[in-house]
Amino acid sequence: MENLLDARIGRVITSPIMVNTIFRDCGTSVFEAMSRLAAELGAINLGQGFPEALEPPELVEAAIAALRSGPHQYPPMLGVPALRQAVAEHAGRFWDLDLDWEREVLVTSGATEAIGDCFLGLLNPGDEVIVFQPAYDCYGTMIRRAGGVPVPVRLQPPGWDLPRQELADAITPRTRMIVLNTPMNPCGKIFDRDELAFIAGLLDRHDLVAICDEVYEHLTFDGRRHLPLMALPQARGRCLRIGSAGKTFSVTGWKVGYVMGDADLLAPVARAHQFLTFTTPPALQAAVAEGLRLGDGYYDRLRATLQQRRDLLADGLRDAGFDVLDCPSTYFLCVDIAGLDPAGDDIAFCDALLRQSGVAAVPVSTFYAGRDMRRLIRLCFAKRQETLETAVARLGAWREGGEGWRRAS
Ligand code: PMP
Ligand code: GLN
Repeated sequence: MENLLDARIGRVITSPIMVNTIFRDCGTSVFEAMSRLAAELGAINLGQGFPEALEPPELVEAAIAALRSGPHQYPPMLGVPALRQAVAEHAGRFWDLDLDWEREVLVTSGATEAIGDCFLGLLNPGDEVIVFQPAYDCYGTMIRRAGGVPVPVRLQPPGWDLPRQELADAITPRTRMIVLNTPMNPCGKIFDRDELAFIAGLLDRHDLVAICDEVYEHLTFDGRRHLPLMALPQARGRCLRIGSAGKTFSVTGWKVGYVMGDADLLAPVARAHQFLTFTTPPALQAAVAEGLRLGDGYYDRLRATLQQRRDLLADGLRDAGFDVLDCPSTYFLCVDIAGLDPAGDDIAFCDALLRQSGVAAVPVSTFYAGRDMRRLIRLCFAKRQETLETAVARLGAWREGGEGWRRAS
């Protein structure tokens, strides 16, 4: 049977008319490819990372009220003042950061835009950017599109510790930037204070900037807490810290993100933003401003709910004989398939798992530039309890040798 997932994520654009070579070759994002396949087959989608039924009603009501009242026209290019103020206040409340909302906060259309703005606004041709692998898929392509050169530094399972020597060795006179995703997709690693202090030392010593993708800042479990690199005084002026309402409020389709940092560092990022999107829908900005001011109870409940969902999926899979890695944060579990996949091909494995069990997962090799780390798959647990129970039952039946699921048609 044709491996549809591989065919879709590997598809090179062959348009004879005009195409940028980087986008020609980068394929379709695995998240889109897997979600489309899951929908076509009517499967449970634990592939692409989006939550089910977790959005706070207060946020939705605030968006409705803002849509009714307006305004409906272009807000200020940096973002509506209420949201920029709320972003600065939130960073002070949770991470003890002191930000000037007028000069140090920019609202973007999702964290994805903020990431692209940082690369486009700051990099020049040939600049090297260190990217920890596994890496979220947009980093490498967007760094290259901005003229930069991604330099991978690999973290190893199951501990995912920072390889300090390798990191130090990867720095050359052309290095300008380090991309740091903590808490980290897909492995759930939370960089600890010692690791962050080591990175901060390198930033200082080599005059580097850090792009800190912290979209999972609130999704940490078992009493563990996130710590922004920017909170280390030595790194304050060298970090651009990115957040996403999509993750913090379980509304990934809203695409409201924010980036904060030293005004001189942020100014060129805002220049990229002004010519990419210029702005983000004002009603959603107004609602997110209210969301960021929700009491601690909201954030505690979100963590507790996700931790319970993580346990449901992890325990269910372990009982069924799957080798589940530790998951201290995010909403993703990684499963080691080495014992289940003699072919050593996580993409073909996910394709077959989808058809045979009716559950979609993401092959983790897509988080590596060389696609050479082929023994992990990722499952999203930010779903309704019933969804996860059905997924566990199907995967358990599949593990027993049955198909676990037949397409109803
Ligand atoms: N960074 C990471 C690590 C992610 O997992 C995601 C996916 N949600 C994003 C950025 C993009 O966030 P947004 O949907 O706000 O663009
Ligand atoms: N961040 C999401 C994930 O890791 C996907 C976002 C997207 O599809 N662009 O699954």
